[in-house]
Amino acid sequence: MAVSLQKQDNEAIISFTKTKNEIVNSVRRTIIDNVLTFAIEDVEIIKNETPLYDETLAHRLGLIPLKTNLKDYNLKSKCSCGGVGCALCEVTFTLQTDDNGYVYSKELKSDDPQICVVDEQVPITKIFGNKGVHIKAKAILGEGREHAKWSPAHAYLKENDSNSIDLVLELHGQLSAEETFNSALDILISKIEEVEEQL
Ligand SMILES: [Zn+2]
Repeated sequence: MAVSLQKQDNEAIISFTKTKNEIVNSVRRTIIDNVLTFAIEDVEIIKNETPLYDETLAHRLGLIPLKTNLKDYNLKSKCSCGGVGCALCEVTFTLQTDDNGYVYSKELKSDDPQICVVDEQVPITKIFGNKGVHIKAKAILGEGREHAKWSPAHAYLKENDSNSIDLVLELHGQLSAEETFNSALDILISKIEEVEEQL
């Protein structure tokens, strides 16, 4: 088996030769379902005088991709804090403005500069007559199988010939192509080890 990687903008093509489609597909499924990324999960609305309902605002915030650092953070449910929430499993974001016009994702200020919005130009809501918005939100690591907002990429297979198959990733920007692929392999290896231990 040989593997090569090509990248252009947010698309990455990982080409596999001399391997089984099932193996490449299990990598694809792991990327979509199990590779961890950060997304906003808990939203506290302190003030919302914008035209959007609180629920709509919270939903929009959840869907904004966040740059993810997997090394320094734990999955909340597996964190040493026992799932209460701490600096090792949660990142706090603040959004506060009363400037008229669109409120963009760049207004979301993170307490860890490493965990920040991927795209600063995502419109969140709009302000009229200097009626403002003030929100505190917590981002946590999660899996795409729980909610698509945590998926790092849209991923599909493209068969070239009987000898070669491409895994195409349309990345949302939380992780690089290499980080996404390597994380999926780590997860698959640890799953196989778990099975081995049980046998
Ligand atoms: Zn914790």
